[in-house]
Amino acid sequence: MKFDLHCHSHFSDGDLSPKQLIALAIEQQITHLALTDHDTVDGLNQAQQAAKEAKLTLINGVEISATWRGQLLHIVGLGVDPNNAELLAGLQQNKQRRFDRAEAMIADLEKHGIEIGEELNKVLKDTTPTRPHFAQALINLGYAKNKQQAFKRYLVKGKPGYIALTWPSIDQVAAWISAAGGVAVLAHPLRYKLTRTKLLTLIDEMKEVGIEAIEVSTAVNDAQQVKMLTDIALQKKLYASIGSDFHSPDQPWSGLGSATELSPELVPVWQALGY
Ligand code: AMP
Ligand code: MN
Ligand code: MN
Ligand code: MN
Repeated sequence: MKFDLHCHSHFSDGDLSPKQLIALAIEQQITHLALTDHDTVDGLNQAQQAAKEAKLTLINGVEISATWRGQLLHIVGLGVDPNNAELLAGLQQNKQRRFDRAEAMIADLEKHGIEIGEELNKVLKDTTPTRPHFAQALINLGYAKNKQQAFKRYLVKGKPGYIALTWPSIDQVAAWISAAGGVAVLAHPLRYKLTRTKLLTLIDEMKEVGIEAIEVSTAVNDAQQVKMLTDIALQKKLYASIGSDFHSPDQPWSGLGSATELSPELVPVWQALGY
């Protein structure tokens, strides 16, 4: 069995359709894939259909934006019921936040002399807006060479197009995932650049609200970082997950299926999912 429990399709900020994603997963010998688009479950239907044809197990997932002590966190829900009313209402709130932020971002870029609206609409089609969509529109308009450059010059704190956003609290997000029968996982724990002490505090508070898993193996962390996360998962008795956070074949550093296997001492999150 080979698991990859974190990736994106064009239903959020990924480049591939769910069907293309499944084809790539098969190429990478993945047997169990979770599609975890940002704040939406809209791609899961197509993904399930394609997975069925390809004989791959598709786990229904979602990556939900949350705020903890002013810090943006991503909480992955695995094994969620995509038709659950409470989850859908929560995701609808986050989608609305995204639309409101996009309006403010467009206005802020305009203040800096950048007219992004028309190009953004072409990039978006009918997807909920994410910052990578803005990055793509900035590239298309010649303001940046690639996404990394767009995220250096624009869209981040202190730069044109940055709008601060308060997402729901971790207990709210945990409640939506739990209502939908899912298991909640802290995504890419080292991405937030917290001190070790603060990360451990987050984990304690997160466990209190029912988030009992962390991604231990991600595509971008080196062996030493994976070891550190392994130790934390063991110390704090957390389920461990594997996720590449794949977005696009153009970002080879987070290739689908490229996250390393978990250490055998860990309890894998798929045990909690019944695999
Ligand atoms: P949002 O949730 O709309 O604020 O957008 C966050 C997403 O932007 C993340 O999930 C990443 O996929 C993407 N992102 C953030 N920073 C960068 C970067 N430096 N280069 C490329 N993508 C980035
Ligand atoms: Mn993303
Ligand atoms: Mn994320
Ligand atoms: Mn992600």
